[in-house]
Amino acid sequence: MNATNKYRLICRDCGHIVESTDAMRCPACGGVLYCEFDLSDRDALSAAIRSATGFWDYLPFFPVRGDKPVTIGEGATPLIAMDRLAKTMGIANAYIKNEAQNPTGTFKDRCMSLAFTKAKEANAAAVVMGSAGNAGAAAAAYAARSGIPCYLFVPAVTPLARIAQSIAYGARLMMVDNGSVTDCIELIDRVRDHYGWMNVTTAYPCNPFQAEAEKAIAYEMAKSMSFSVPDWIVVPVGGGGCLTGIYKGYRDMAALGLTSKMPRMVGVQEDGCCALVKAFEKRAAPMEIRREEQISGIALPIMDAFPLDGAFALQAIYETDGYAVAVTSEELMEAQLLLSSREGIFAEIASSTTVAGLKKLVSGGVIAPQDSVVCVITGSGLKDASVIVDHAKAPLHVPLDPEKLKEIIKATCWSGTEECICV
Ligand SMILES: *Cc1c(COP(=O)(O)O)cnc(C)c1O
Ligand SMILES: [Zn+2]
Repeated sequence: MNATNKYRLICRDCGHIVESTDAMRCPACGGVLYCEFDLSDRDALSAAIRSATGFWDYLPFFPVRGDKPVTIGEGATPLIAMDRLAKTMGIANAYIKNEAQNPTGTFKDRCMSLAFTKAKEANAAAVVMGSAGNAGAAAAAYAARSGIPCYLFVPAVTPLARIAQSIAYGARLMMVDNGSVTDCIELIDRVRDHYGWMNVTTAYPCNPFQAEAEKAIAYEMAKSMSFSVPDWIVVPVGGGGCLTGIYKGYRDMAALGLTSKMPRMVGVQEDGCCALVKAFEKRAAPMEIRREEQISGIALPIMDAFPLDGAFALQAIYETDGYAVAVTSEELMEAQLLLSSREGIFAEIASSTTVAGLKKLVSGGVIAPQDSVVCVITGSGLKDASVIVDHAKAPLHVPLDPEKLKEIIKATCWSGTEECICV
């Protein structure tokens, strides 16, 4: 099996089947392309999933030749039972898939490993990316690893602390004044041909190849659960690519007979920027998602005014009888602290959407107490520790004096938590 016959590109918008395996957009109508893999060699493909131990062992499901992958040890992240949190929420079985353990701290590393491998195979001279920070950091890291220069367009409102990683990796940064991520991506589209940059932005319309990387999240989760399928998988939605990729991975495994049902996909957004949730609430058709005119919130990595892969994601939600829900900034901060203080997992605010959304859907009766749920923690809380610093109570100051220290501990009460030490 090789890269030229294991998949084909299909146009979402006109149905055209593209002969080339390298096109970024539909040559017939300019529409959005997606990869469709040939799964007819069921035994070999099932065996590949069963025997895989690392991300690149899923090569038969990736649209590249892949003999020389650009890798920094992405993927193979743990699935962790969150018993204490589940108890708090009144459900039996909750897990997290911890994508924060990727090399740059988010699942975007999977996408960039694949995108830069494709870029190398296409002899790209330079790549370009539009990002709110996390995909940019991943692109910058894989640019450094591969030696392909990376131009990075980021909204100027992005805190510099979020960009530090990209600066360290040596990205060629452009902070776009008055622009959202959606604006950055549109700007790239207008200059990319002029410079011959290959677009590695993590959205199907920009690069249909990177989108196949998130299928591996599903393969790994299924293996961790011995191919039993959780009732629900809860995923943050920015552009919608991550949710779509996980859905596609489960669809592959169902087609190969490795699993016996589909998980119900849940997309969560912050209420200040939730175009997909608004469409879901109206049960609108997937292509009817409307761009948000005004956006606000604290979950910067998912502040996409228009979710470029929202149509695919909403389709996946409908097809699996899933759900979409929006949560407030306060609910996000509470969920972040809940996950870190109950389970020792410090998730990025954008990823805390999953725990906040789970809580909301359990109390709303959508998710039943006996259901099993996986929350996908897409990124690390260390990406933006300022959220905690800005909202947490100031920590205690104590003197270098054991007697005075005892008095302070005695006067300080942690009661109300299980960990109270002043009694
Ligand atoms: C990019 C990102 C998302 C959103 O992923 P999409 O594929 O754009 O929906 C969620 N969480 C984190 C931490 C991210 O970096
Ligand atoms: Zn087309």
